[in-house]
Amino acid sequence: MNEESVDVLVIGAGPSGCVSASYLANNNINVKIIEKVKFPRYVIGESLLPRCMDHFDEVGLLDALKEQNYEIKRGARFLRGDEVCNFDFSKKFTDGWDWTWQVPRAHFDNVLAEETKKKGVEIDFENEVIAVEFDGSNSKTTIRDIDGNIKYINAKYIIDASGYGRVLPGLLDLKKPSALPKHSSIFTIAKDINRPEGEEGTLITFDVVDLEVWLWVIPFSDGTTSIGFVGPTEFINSHKGSSTEMLEEMLNMSDFFKERFKGVPHLFEPKIIQNFSTAVKQIYGDGYIITGNSGEFLDPIFSSGVTFATETGLLAAKLVTRIIKGEEIDLDKEYVKPVQFGVDVFTSYVNEWYSGNLQKLFFHKPENPDIKEKICSILAGYVWDQTNPFITKHNRLVKSVAHLIDMGKEAKDL
Ligand SMILES: Cc1cc2nc3c(=O)[nH]c(=O)nc-3n(C[C@H](O)[C@H](O)[C@H](O)COP(=O)(O)OP(=O)(O)OC[C@H]3O[C@@H](n4cnc5c(N)ncnc54)[C@H](O)[C@@H]3O)c2cc1C
Repeated sequence: MNEESVDVLVIGAGPSGCVSASYLANNNINVKIIEKVKFPRYVIGESLLPRCMDHFDEVGLLDALKEQNYEIKRGARFLRGDEVCNFDFSKKFTDGWDWTWQVPRAHFDNVLAEETKKKGVEIDFENEVIAVEFDGSNSKTTIRDIDGNIKYINAKYIIDASGYGRVLPGLLDLKKPSALPKHSSIFTIAKDINRPEGEEGTLITFDVVDLEVWLWVIPFSDGTTSIGFVGPTEFINSHKGSSTEMLEEMLNMSDFFKERFKGVPHLFEPKIIQNFSTAVKQIYGDGYIITGNSGEFLDPIFSSGVTFATETGLLAAKLVTRIIKGEEIDLDKEYVKPVQFGVDVFTSYVNEWYSGNLQKLFFHKPENPDIKEKICSILAGYVWDQTNPFITKHNRLVKSVAHLIDMGKEAKDL
């Protein structure tokens, strides 16, 4: 049998796809996931935000994750030379989770997929979506398995959660260039054999080595640590040699971490992702909705990727459930508007990070606790809180406060 019919076809079994499919299955919608590769599989994106705990909790995936003993993340540390700025999620403005995890994604995504299967969702691994035809909102999707066999799935709706695969944006010509500057990244997972004892060894840290260049250090509970540099594409490409040599050379820029990671074994040859920011012309159409990285990816500085993927995955699943049950939905109002709002807030913060204004706020001493708790909410992923002025006035407040700092104002006057 090479043809079957479902209510909803989900493309991709990453966090976005699993959260979507779990919600649909919990609501008795006939859903199937098609996943290109075999799990466990590596993907970048290991620092989560507290907000995504709400999503895993709501769809019943959280308990399985809690059993995995992942490294707990209670905040984040930013360094710039001798300057330090610590954020503690328990001191944030918005109510909500004040902790999350640092996760090796191959393991984490596999737990999510296995748990999603337990809800009755079939996942066809090593099956790739290669074409889609729409007839109104009904679709016929062509799938090729690893042996080259072709099958077809008829669906009333498609949720495209294909991440970097960007399946529907590719097939429907929806890709557009990101408005963000061209940044790239080089990263690996290191055996953290020089890890210091205690909290110092396990604290997630972002080390700003130049205005637009920073290093992430994300320690895992299994003794390995994700390390990676982000910077303008021409900066990353200006380093010569193998990717191991390039990363080693960049590590010399971090006074804080160069000794810890010098010459340590890597789990894999460092990978490079060039110009990682992506955008799309639209995030839904007749019979489909695009979630997570398949739509928009901005920048890793605020670790928002997985949380954005689960936020949009869950919202899309809720809306598609209502559509399948016969409701008329205004997707511009109920999907595009909130998603775009989140994208706009993070875009402002990404831009202000690389302009240096946000870094001014982070490292200004003495700190202003009132401002800090509001920015902490954003770093925790609670970017839809309309009572937080650093969210509602995202495009001007950071600039204004940075300007006051430049004028030599004291923290209490900010
Ligand atoms: C340098 C860098 C650092 C990052 N760091 C972080 C971080 O610290 N924290 C964070 O939250 N995010 C981070 N991200 C972002 C993060 O990687 C993504 O946002 C996140 O993985 C998106 O999840 P997803 O479920 O949308 O897609 P994915 O996790 O990419 O899952 C998509 C799935 O779809 C499958 N697929 C693809 N094509 C097809 C096809 N044709 N048919 C069937 N299946 C298909 C893929 O195999 C994959 O398993 C980072 C990104 C970059 C570039």
